[in-house]
Amino acid sequence: MARKNALGRLSALEISLIVLFLLMTAVSVALIIVLALEWDSNKQSETVEPTVDAPANTYLIGVGRADCTGPVADIPLMGYANSKQTARGLHTRLFSRAFIIDDGNKRVLFVTADIGMVSQRLRLEVLRELKVKYGDLYRQDNVVMSGTHTHSGLGGYFQYTLFMITSSGYIKPSIQAIVNGMVKSIDIAHRNIRPGRVFINKGELLDSNLNRSPHSYLNNPEEERNSYEYNTDKQIVIMKFTDLDGDGMGLLSWFAVHPVSMNYTNRMVSSDNMGYASYAFEQEKNIGFLPGEGLFVAGFSSSNLGDSSPNIRGPVCVDTGAKCDYLNSSCPIGGKKACIAFGPGEDMFESTRLIGENIYKKAKELYSSASQELHGSINFAHQWVDMSDETVQLNSTHTGRTCKPALGHSFAAGTTDGGGEFNFIQGDTDGRPFWDFIRDLLVGPPSRATKACHRPKPILFSTGELNEPLPWHPNIVDVQIITIGSFAIVAVPGEFTTMSGRRIRQAVKQELDQGPFSNTEVVIAGLCNIYTHYITTYEEYQIQRYEGASTIFGPHTLSAYIQRFRGLAKAIAQGTVGDLPKGPEPPFFDDDKLFNLIKDPVEDEAPVNTTFGDVLEQVSSVYKVGEVASVTFVAGNPRHSGDIRDKTFVTVEMFHNGMWEIVHTDASWETRFHWEGDKGLSNATIEWYIPRSAKTGTYRIQYFGHYKQIQDNQTIISPYVGSSDTFKVTKSFYY
Ligand code: ZN
Repeated sequence: MARKNALGRLSALEISLIVLFLLMTAVSVALIIVLALEWDSNKQSETVEPTVDAPANTYLIGVGRADCTGPVADIPLMGYANSKQTARGLHTRLFSRAFIIDDGNKRVLFVTADIGMVSQRLRLEVLRELKVKYGDLYRQDNVVMSGTHTHSGLGGYFQYTLFMITSSGYIKPSIQAIVNGMVKSIDIAHRNIRPGRVFINKGELLDSNLNRSPHSYLNNPEEERNSYEYNTDKQIVIMKFTDLDGDGMGLLSWFAVHPVSMNYTNRMVSSDNMGYASYAFEQEKNIGFLPGEGLFVAGFSSSNLGDSSPNIRGPVCVDTGAKCDYLNSSCPIGGKKACIAFGPGEDMFESTRLIGENIYKKAKELYSSASQELHGSINFAHQWVDMSDETVQLNSTHTGRTCKPALGHSFAAGTTDGGGEFNFIQGDTDGRPFWDFIRDLLVGPPSRATKACHRPKPILFSTGELNEPLPWHPNIVDVQIITIGSFAIVAVPGEFTTMSGRRIRQAVKQELDQGPFSNTEVVIAGLCNIYTHYITTYEEYQIQRYEGASTIFGPHTLSAYIQRFRGLAKAIAQGTVGDLPKGPEPPFFDDDKLFNLIKDPVEDEAPVNTTFGDVLEQVSSVYKVGEVASVTFVAGNPRHSGDIRDKTFVTVEMFHNGMWEIVHTDASWETRFHWEGDKGLSNATIEWYIPRSAKTGTYRIQYFGHYKQIQDNQTIISPYVGSSDTFKVTKSFYY
């Protein structure tokens, strides 16, 4: 039933503006916070021996990578759901990586992108483009799209109201960059298809993740917990792709950890720890190429990372260094905001590198020793499901039901990885009457039925009952499995906790365990196809920490998914995929119903007696390796550079053979591009963290931008180049 209130007679747009205004002023953005949200390898030779005669059942393989970085200024970063954490520059570029595998009959496409998550809108827009280009070759049932879950990617690519509020609307240039980048990576993979072989391998990676809600995990049955050594998954699974000569084409890997090494204080676009792993692997394989270039593609996909944090030093009270309260993750002084988890490094950059390096090194080891080859046909099964209306058979006598989407009070508490506002705490099953009062005033109370359905979750936002200007949350969700021989990828639509993922893997493995599918290795690909926040086990849900409060379809959400994924697995194993109902198609809302709160940037201005690209703070004349070269320029707003994909704001150049040779771009780990601007006046600071491996010699830093001016009502965008003085890099000041 649609909710009617005093706003009922106003138009959808008026209501949306009122709701937005109230939300952003009275409760501030704070209320809506956080989206913040085996087998044995034969240990044989390292390289694959060239095959004279290709085995009868090899695959056709295509890999591709493309830049999908959007506007690096003003747009909120997608992850901690703080609309004030807007982009102010670029640390590393964001890439989409595509992998096509074809058995000569059926084809699957797996895309992993350096973004927070795949949204329904993003998926639908990409599928529309693919339809135009490729007809029915790439469809909803054979294409999986996954986000790495970096929290330093850009927002603005959602069509549901809650996500539009936290990321300041549906932002066309932001989503367009991701759509175009994804499609380009698919085009490249499609063009490069050639016969090849696929190997898999698996190993254990310790010291790289930590359970951030151990109290919830401990509520799972003891017997179940006892069958696992750790409270987070330590396994890393890889697929290795080679051509028939045994030359490496690509790697695809899964490991369960949140890419939140870059924390909520960061303002630069970054691919975080997973992006670092891709960067390191690709740099090693693509010798002589700048980052983002070269044919070898290394994708590091997300998995069941719901309760898995990279901040392995764990949470402490920042003021006293004491342990935080176990259930609520709060501190005597400063409450939950003072309880923060830190990574292994001295700062967030070092933590990102260290976690990324751990993942990269383990993947490299597994890649080198991979000897289990996949054979057999490719299969896939997909359904759209109304997750707000599922009946689950809990046992022989009892059924349970899923609920209309709703978020609990502890959702607004955030996690020890950041986010959260006011006095919301984790593990809250009582709720806060004050916030209920405010909520009722602004958007209305939850219905009795929804309250009962979500128990013991105290509901903060009954998003499934809020439909203005558009539904606040989705009901129709994708469930999907693809198999390559005896390897299954389960595409899950959100953040499954460690135990939730284990239950799904076990259920799918069980259903598949027959004929060619016996002993299938099952991996969870996270944040796929549509975002529905978190999925905890029924037992974890009872604790109502952040993850439970963010399990939007109620206590039986996981059971409903297990039932559905069992159904898909069974259909694949029995060859009855064609009998599966397609399910209700998701909506594609008209552009004019979406809102955008991000204004076009104003005209750029240069300070008196300067022009764009002029140096405000010059480099030093000599640097030692390990130091940081820094230069500040008069800048325009980076959004005036338009589509920045496959370009660079920065080059670090070395003078060599009478020419300037580019050694780094803005995609390099060693460079940081900070932008700061206010009312049209802005500057850009380029930092080069000079690696110890840097050659001694003469260098310069160049900066490329655009500025906007309005003359006679005409908008003129002009390019400019800034260049630092030349400087020397030495190994030591004393020869
Ligand atoms: Zn998350």
